Amino acid sequence: MARVLVACAQDGRVVHTGHHMTAAQFEAANARYAFRCSACGDIHHWVRAEAWIEPARVVRAATAAPAEAE
Ligand SMILES: [Zn+2]
Repeated sequence: MARVLVACAQDGRVVHTGHHMTAAQFEAANARYAFRCSACGDIHHWVRAEAWIEPARVVRAATAAPAEAE
């Protein structure tokens, strides 16, 4: 699983939300999640549109290869 990252609403620093998700879980994440920010100490909320997951060991380019036609 990958760490879910978001930019701190206070100072824009990239912080770990404390959530860990697979890419599939992240794509399916519809909720609004709360976490305590490690940059400013406040509670922030994030939604998928504002967040991203840390690149995993398998890079996106490797998984983006087109499926075999046959
Ligand atoms: Zn913050």
